[in-house]
Amino acid sequence: MIIGIDDTDSNEGMCTTYLGALLLDELQAYGTVETRPLLIRLNPTIPYKTRGNAAVAMKLKTDCPEKVIAHVVSRIEEFARIECEKTNPGAVFIPEKAYEKLKPVLRNFLEKAVKEVIEIEEAKSLISESGVPSKGFKNGRGLIGALAACGAMLNLEEWDHTFEYLAYRQKEKWGTPRKIEKESFFEADRNTYPDTWDTVDLKNRLVVCVPHSADPVLFGIRGKNPAVVTKAVSLIRAEPIERFAIYRTNQGTDMHLISAESIAEIRDMHSYTLEGTVSAVPETIHGGHVIFPIQDGDGNEIDCAAFEPTKNFRLLIRKLRPGDRIVVSGSVNSRTFNIEKIEIKKLAPLYREENPVCPTCGKHMKSSGQNQGFRCKKCGTQATSKILCETNRNLTEGLYEVPPCARRHLAKPLVREQKSDIEIHPAR
Ligand SMILES: [Zn+2]
Repeated sequence: MIIGIDDTDSNEGMCTTYLGALLLDELQAYGTVETRPLLIRLNPTIPYKTRGNAAVAMKLKTDCPEKVIAHVVSRIEEFARIECEKTNPGAVFIPEKAYEKLKPVLRNFLEKAVKEVIEIEEAKSLISESGVPSKGFKNGRGLIGALAACGAMLNLEEWDHTFEYLAYRQKEKWGTPRKIEKESFFEADRNTYPDTWDTVDLKNRLVVCVPHSADPVLFGIRGKNPAVVTKAVSLIRAEPIERFAIYRTNQGTDMHLISAESIAEIRDMHSYTLEGTVSAVPETIHGGHVIFPIQDGDGNEIDCAAFEPTKNFRLLIRKLRPGDRIVVSGSVNSRTFNIEKIEIKKLAPLYREENPVCPTCGKHMKSSGQNQGFRCKKCGTQATSKILCETNRNLTEGLYEVPPCARRHLAKPLVREQKSDIEIHPAR
């Protein structure tokens, strides 16, 4: 049986991955867990999502599916923040005999749940048509993520993946300040980067893998395999934990990105990679956000933004100039492209006016007064106007990204990038 669960958290607390970890331990009483649990991130632009927009799936070999379903449902009732307006939990239970039939259907559903906007009705009709047991609470929106996570479990080889080691706090500590030794996280990073990432943000001197909310997570270490995240955790010194789980996840894979051919096809609440030409000098607006327009071959324009939380990334964006050829990756909301990553493909030459150079001695001439041209003091040579000189852009072509402290869950960090034909600048 495959169990998918989604939308049990709220902005104030809980975390669907905690419920997953708890069930993973408890369900051993009813059968054998078959493969690693999954943590699946869905479309990050959905406005009614709860905090992390994460769903979980697990696979269990069991002889008593009814008992499993009853246990999962009772745990959701106990732990989910059902009182929260935005929390609408859902769980689905796919029996083994339905795997074959649902595999292609749920593969498409997963793709759509990560890239597109799915209505609850679509999830509900899929469930009723296939006849799989499910349990939706309130409006049942969580059924969408629950189905998508099951789709990921049925199609494990079809999607790129990373791992996250999630450590959970003892229950009586939830909501209190976390006790961690900051320096140990930097040490863990030094010993395991680049096979782990986003543990700390070196430039901004921040531990980024420890949340600040009241949820049960103490920290989450992201990396390329279970062994390396476990090694990183062995170097961390922090308060005792209640339990942990290592999830296989679509985090850090760019699974949300749609390749856009033109600006005309771009819609809000979707994420894209888009090539274009910078069409005006970036502007810093109120709040410290940096905004600039890009244009495609059809002459259409869209605003791109490096928002204030992207910190030092904005320094790079401010150096862009009209004519620069770029590829941006990120999410679109309110017709604004929120940049997660940028490839600077071709820098436009930039010119500056300078006084003309004397053909005899090679020194710059001096102005002879307003509208009087220029003259070399030493040789007496003259010229009428200034000349244009190409200036150093102080920026190099290549791939850049927002710092770890501003990373979206699904965005693929540049340390994972395999491209060899381009200079890669991972943020640390
Ligand atoms: Zn001269």
